[in-house]
Amino acid sequence: MFDPVMFAELTKKDVCKDDSRKYYRFRPSRFYGGISTADCVGCCLRCVFCWAWNVAARPVEHGEFYSPEDVVRRLTRIAEKKRLNQMRISGNEPTICREHLI
Ligand code: SF4
Repeated sequence: MFDPVMFAELTKKDVCKDDSRKYYRFRPSRFYGGISTADCVGCCLRCVFCWAWNVAARPVEHGEFYSPEDVVRRLTRIAEKKRLNQMRISGNEPTICREHLI
């Protein structure tokens, strides 16, 4: 049986380091009326419709580690440059590295 909790624990070892987490992209997105977006690496699910399956399934091969401060700085820079008033973490599962997210 598929066990997402076990997958989360395994994935944490590859994508969480101290309070840093792996991300593979920072971008402005047109969704939600325009939103500054950080795409994280690592997911504990394997949805059949996943559009980021390559990153979710092989987190070791994707992304680099960023501190929370780095992520906020990058999201803020994109938001200011594109005049966006929303930010998000997307891409894979944002809650896997709790220390980093909090
Ligand atoms: S990244 Fe999203 S769509 Fe892909 S497996 Fe994880 S939860 Fe599902």
